Amino acid sequence: PKQEVAAAPVVAQAAPVITGTLVKVNVSLPEAAQRAAATGADGVGLLRIEHLILGLQKTPGWYINEGKEDEFIQSLYDGIKVVLDAFPGKPVWVRTLDAPTDEFRNMEGGEEEPVEHNPMLGWRGIRRDLNSPDQFRMQVETFKRLWSAGYDNLGVMFPLVNHPDEFLQAKAMMKRWGVDVENVTLGIMVEIPSSAILIEEFIEAGIKFASFGTNDLVQYTLAIDRNNENVADMYKPKHPAVLRLIDMAIKACRAHGVECSICGQAGSDPSMATWLVEHGISSVSANIDAVPRIREAVARKEKQMILDLARRNNA
Ligand code: PEP
Ligand code: MG
Repeated sequence: PKQEVAAAPVVAQAAPVITGTLVKVNVSLPEAAQRAAATGADGVGLLRIEHLILGLQKTPGWYINEGKEDEFIQSLYDGIKVVLDAFPGKPVWVRTLDAPTDEFRNMEGGEEEPVEHNPMLGWRGIRRDLNSPDQFRMQVETFKRLWSAGYDNLGVMFPLVNHPDEFLQAKAMMKRWGVDVENVTLGIMVEIPSSAILIEEFIEAGIKFASFGTNDLVQYTLAIDRNNENVADMYKPKHPAVLRLIDMAIKACRAHGVECSICGQAGSDPSMATWLVEHGISSVSANIDAVPRIREAVARKEKQMILDLARRNNA
């Protein structure tokens, strides 16, 4: 008998995936984790670890010289864990150490910190870590222990990156130290114009996300010291050159499916958040107190964009 040929299964048309802009929160102290989580934020777009480390009153170099690496790692582990526990199942991007050398000066081990005329342009961020692998390794060991403990919501973000080679070097070091680098979330801050200009190359180098550090991006794009009140009125996050760099980077990230976010202070300004949503940013990370107003600004803009689209489709 002729065998019935089964009709081809009807493949349901997948509904287009509409993902709204996430609203995340910035955290600087573990003590603020509960308050940050209570905002209902979609994750932590920036966990600064400077305060945790500076609070120890000893430099990372001191712990290494004294053979007390485990003490450092344990303190860092405990602090980060508090934040991860407050955001179960939500991404938490922990930024590697980004303190300028002058902030370490008056603590134990501070005498070994280099004396710099301009610490903000000096030995900080990823350059310090690449240049002092022992200090980087203590942080990586902390992350490894957290990943091993099941905290797969932990992502690692590198600050002050200006060339894709820095990201690749950091990744290679982590791999050498036993991190499964292709399966953990590693990303960069875009806070130097060079990293926005080279965003395609960073994407090629394998970043999983990019986050605009506008506090620095503004100062380095406009040559305005972010801490100098004499030029404070010229410090403009919405300067067209800053916006163009951001727009360029968002476009590249979107084209390659890389999450792009903002964690600088400008992300707490509703009008900036509105502009960013309009230009396609994937998430906005704001200060704890600003999360409600940013969520509202984002929702309002998204609603307007959806209605505009619907009207155009019906026209
Ligand atoms: C930034 O530069 O925007 C940023 C978030 O980092 P920090 O303020 O810690 O330099
Ligand atoms: Mg910065």
